[in-house]
Amino acid sequence: MTVENSPQRETHAFQAEINQLLSLVINSLYSHKEIFLRELVSNASDALDKLRFRSITEPELLADEPALELRITPDAEKGTLTIEDTGIGMTHDELVKNLGTIAHSGSREFLEALSQRGQKDMQLIGQFGVGFYSAYLVADHVDVVSRAPGKDMPAWKWASDAKGSFTVEKAERATRGTAITLHLKADQKEFLEEYRLRTLITQYSDYVGHPIKLQVKKTTGTGDDAKTETSLEVVNKASALWQRSKSEITDEQYQEFYKHLTHDWEAPLAWTHFRADGNQQFTGLLFVPKHPPFDLNAQQQRGVRLFVKRVFIMDRCEELVPQWLRFVRGVIDSDDLPLNVSRELLQDSQVVRAIRKHVVKKSVDLLEKLAKDKPDDYREFWKAFGTVVKEGLATEAEHKDKLGGLLRYESSREEGLTSLADYVSRMKEGQEAIYYIYGESRQAVADSPHLEALKQRGFEVLYMTDPVDEWAAQGLREFQGKPLVSALTSDLKLQATDEQKKEQEQHAEGLKTLTSKMKDVLKDSVREVRVSDRLTDSPVCLVVPEGGSPAYLERLLQQRGKGMGMPRVKRIMEVNPNHPVIAHLKAVNERQPDAAQVTEWIELLHDQALLTEGSTISDPNRFARRMTGLLTQVAAQAAQAPTHAAVAQAAVQESSQPATTPPAAS
Ligand code: ADP
Ligand code: MG
Repeated sequence: MTVENSPQRETHAFQAEINQLLSLVINSLYSHKEIFLRELVSNASDALDKLRFRSITEPELLADEPALELRITPDAEKGTLTIEDTGIGMTHDELVKNLGTIAHSGSREFLEALSQRGQKDMQLIGQFGVGFYSAYLVADHVDVVSRAPGKDMPAWKWASDAKGSFTVEKAERATRGTAITLHLKADQKEFLEEYRLRTLITQYSDYVGHPIKLQVKKTTGTGDDAKTETSLEVVNKASALWQRSKSEITDEQYQEFYKHLTHDWEAPLAWTHFRADGNQQFTGLLFVPKHPPFDLNAQQQRGVRLFVKRVFIMDRCEELVPQWLRFVRGVIDSDDLPLNVSRELLQDSQVVRAIRKHVVKKSVDLLEKLAKDKPDDYREFWKAFGTVVKEGLATEAEHKDKLGGLLRYESSREEGLTSLADYVSRMKEGQEAIYYIYGESRQAVADSPHLEALKQRGFEVLYMTDPVDEWAAQGLREFQGKPLVSALTSDLKLQATDEQKKEQEQHAEGLKTLTSKMKDVLKDSVREVRVSDRLTDSPVCLVVPEGGSPAYLERLLQQRGKGMGMPRVKRIMEVNPNHPVIAHLKAVNERQPDAAQVTEWIELLHDQALLTEGSTISDPNRFARRMTGLLTQVAAQAAQAPTHAAVAQAAVQESSQPATTPPAAS
């Protein structure tokens, strides 16, 4: 990547993506250019946190400069604004890597989003790990002088006017840290004004736990005696936000802190701020984002940050939150963990287990409250993270009821998402279960024959179309004492009157010959054929016996290579005793049990049932051939005899003839 080298100064070409990004940033008409300050302060704050962490084990790193702080210096004469920190600094190679390439995987998406949506979304810049380049919103030239901590470490200067390349050369800097100097564009000089800077820092960066010192000018005396002095003044509270009392923190401050923490450009949906003073003492500030990050399922998530006694320890502490809460962001600050805590220690720590338990409880409470107080926001949350929350049903025995209360599903009621509690409140008399149907899509489940009897009884059915749903429903099992029953299973728990039972028995008796014939024909694929009490419009359907999985789940497992060699649990085929096709088949079977037609129809019905279930049929060609055969037969009959339609048409014409024909004019 190096274009040209001289002993004094190296020139490096930017990575192609960075060039693309820079040209977008430079030409941006984006109106909130002040976000650059937030991004640079955020980076400086991170750098200070990193240094503090390292100094736990290497206290000597603080020797040359005990202060951990930010300094912001406007220089009106030179037209420059310098943002300096006494943090971790960067070596030569780190400068080249961090400020010349895009490390984060989402950069391509970001560039796409940015060029598509124009400058509206410059806010996004921080989220994609390219916040530094927002400096070019206001500057046409940027210098970065940085020195890594440690005795005799050299300092380096990175400089670029964002025209395809940057230079790196040796520099002078007495102590560790980084100073970023922005040579402001002619029309951006407002960022030299003290008042403007002060306001921005309070607005965007007040959460920063390190002092932010602004260089201010004071004029004393008058006339010839007037003297202007400069001094550094701390303009933020400089205490960790989560350690302040709730009443002192505004919503905006929580939101800005969240943005710093997560690099999200949007405010969070909800948050909870708490202090635990029991056996374990710790403070927590947890946020629920509005939308999933681009990498919700990837390893690289920002997650919950761990602090110990205000000292930043690590970015993503997976031990503090279970997988199913992986969307939660925030901070945990423990008073009890040792400062030199390691990953190994975390995995095996009583303290961590206690914190985790508390985090789960607080998160569940937060979601419950959101669902109750702000149902619209909650719906938004559910669309973004519902799938993840459902995973908790299988693992979080302790909070199962509460989690059940958080679930939302579409249903046959066709009025958007419903909660289980609302479903239960609408249950009909005589309805003993919460019914659901699981399948690939709303379309695939809504018209399923399996719902016919439920619909007829006016029972609402939940549509579960998320791959994890079946698993989650089985994890939950019941809600408010009502069992969750899949409409695809063999036992629907439908109440029947004595009369209905008797009728059912009569049907079973009447169709005995046919059902055993069917069983015979289909013996390799179904375990039982029986008369159905769930069908009204369809001739047959397949139901899943206990221990079996619905077709959609089978398919998913197969796709993920997990169903290999797993024998498919044979279905039970149910037959609709009131369907004309069944009546006809029964008659033919009784007349000529050996007719080829009987076997063909049985197989055709079975194939149809497989298709409506969402399974594939073993021999689509044979299925198509048989269908064509049937249609041909119908066509042939229609050619010979007048069809029903033709007869009906004739009848209509006849009746529209005037009853009395007027006498013909003669
Ligand atoms: P992000 O902060 O998301 O990593 P940025 O573009 O803001 O993305 O910064 C890129 C990288 O440059 C940072 O990850 C960090 O390693 C480095 N960096 C930026 N500013 C500083 C600083 N003031 N001190 C030390 N390192 C810094
Ligand atoms: Mg950054």
